[in-house]
Parts: sequence; C-alpha cells; structure tokens
Amino acid sequence: MRIDLHAHSNASDGTDTPAELVAAAVAAGLDVVALTDHDTVAGYPEAIAAVQALPAGTGLTLLPGAEISCRVEGISMHLLAYLFDPTEPAFAQERELTRTDRFRRARLVVERCQELGAPITWEQVERIAAGGASRPGEEQGSVGRPHIASALVEAGVVATVSDAFTSEWLAEHGRAHVPKHETDPVEAVKLVRAAGGVPVFAHPGAAKRGRTVSDQVIGELAAAGLGGLEVDHIDHDEPTRARLRALAAELGLFTTGSSDYHGSRKTVRLGEFTTAPDAYQALLAQATGARPIVR
Ligand code: AMP
Ligand code: FE
Ligand code: FE
Ligand code: ZN
Repeated sequence: MRIDLHAHSNASDGTDTPAELVAAAVAAGLDVVALTDHDTVAGYPEAIAAVQALPAGTGLTLLPGAEISCRVEGISMHLLAYLFDPTEPAFAQERELTRTDRFRRARLVVERCQELGAPITWEQVERIAAGGASRPGEEQGSVGRPHIASALVEAGVVATVSDAFTSEWLAEHGRAHVPKHETDPVEAVKLVRAAGGVPVFAHPGAAKRGRTVSDQVIGELAAAGLGGLEVDHIDHDEPTRARLRALAAELGLFTTGSSDYHGSRKTVRLGEFTTAPDAYQALLAQATGARPIVR
C-alpha cells in the first residue's frame, strides 16, 4: 500500500487543481491520498467529484483533511486534521477566521515588498492565488506566502520560491514578514477531535522554517488528544526522524510519512514519502467525523 497523507491543491498554496491532484495520485500509483490545504476545505467538492468520476475499482482512497495554522510559545506550527466533519460549527468558524485573516495579511506583505522595491502588485498575487482564492458561489480557498513568493519570482526579484523564504523577504523574521491569525494548538487539537477528526502534528522537526516546538509541548498536545506525529518528511533529517519516532512511541502516538506535495511550487514528488498501513489503520479507527471516499 502506498499512502500519502499530506498534499496541497490550488485551494491553498499547491499548483494542481483538486482534480489534477487526484489524477496525479492515480498516476503516482497511490492507494491513499489526503487533501490537506491550509486552513480551508474549499478543494473538497472538486476532489470528491474527481474521485467519484474515476473508473470503479481504480483503487484510490481520498482522505479529506486540512492543515491548520497554529502558534505556541511564539513558534508557528502546522496541525494536520483528517476526516473531521467540515460542517461542525466551532472548527469551521476557526478555519474561516484564519482563512480570511490571510487576505488582510497578504495585502500587508505585498505592501512591504513594494516598499522594499519589489515590483509586485496585489492583483498579481490575487491572480496567482486565484485557483483557490475566488471560486464564485463556493467556499474560497486561502492565500499564503508561497503565492507572494511566486509573484517575486515572476518579477525577477528572486530565482525560486524557496529563495523568497529568506530574511531578505518572507522568512519568519524576514523584512516583509507579517504575522497572521494562528490557533493555539491545544485548542486546535480539541476543535479537530470535537469535529470527529484526527489531529497529527505536521513536520514537527522542520528546523529550516524557524524554531521548533519542544518535546514538552508535544507531550501537552498528546495529552489534549493529538493522534500522531508526521515523521517521514522532506524537511526532517535522519537523526530528527529517529528522535521523533522515539518520542511518538513514548507518548503513544502513531507516526506518518508524507510528501507535503505542493505541485510545481516545491520540488518534492507526490508519494515521495509514505505512511505505513498500520499507522493509517490507527488513524482510520480514531475518525468519526467523515468517511474516506473510495473508488
Ligand atoms: P503561510 O502559511 O502563508 O505563512 O506560508 C507558509 C507556507 O510557506 C508553508 O506551508 C510552505 O508551503 C511554505 N514555506 C515555508 N517555509 C518555506 C521555505 N523555507 N521554503 C519554501 N517554502 C516554505
Ligand atoms: Fe504550504
Ligand atoms: Fe505545513
Ligand atoms: Zn503542508
């Protein structure tokens, strides 16, 4: 079984449409793919329809999910959430708060970039984010720093998206960085569980993005209902993975592996990292908010 539990569509900062992501999952030979856009479920209708349109017996399962922006002790972190009820009001309201605040923040980041001499515009960022940012009549997607990074690439300011994530521009303490609304992760874990979902700490050891959360905080999240730790991730080196695996065993958490695919906005391939079937089964056994879509 090939199980990839973390992928983005253009409902947030991926470049594939939700339907293209489903097609890419089939092409990559995946058995399971999770759609985990940042702070939004806007990609669900298209992704679900794409799975349902596959030939019967294709052998693909879609796990609807999301990646929730959190902050604890001054550190930004991401919480993956799977198989929650997307209509549960308290969690839906928190996602909406974060998603809308991303637009306020993105405009300010664009202004900072302009003041710093980068010839980018809000209209350009809106166009780049448009896949997720403006679908008439449906929940909108979310805008993020990677869209602004793509605008900086288009304008010739930096060569690649990841070159925009430096102290010069968009990194955590960079010249053009503006904070956004982020949920306390203990609160987020409780919101996910109350919506019947399963929370997993995304890339907890991704040090290149800034400081990482202490083992003590991870222990507190486990006590609050965290289900697992994402261990096999491109941003974790081997010693980090070993340390996280030991911590997960100590805390009774399952461990996952996933690509964190962003289409052409990052170099990682869909299915490059995968989750073991027993961890996937542990996740499924804890979920009560939604069913996987199987085709
Ligand atoms: P935002 O959610 O708008 O604050 O932007 C965070 C997103 O930027 C993450 O989900 C990643 O997709 C991307 N990102 C963060 N750090 C880096 C980095 N060092 N290089 C490339 N992309 C990054
Ligand atoms: Fe992202
Ligand atoms: Fe993330
Ligand atoms: Zn992600």
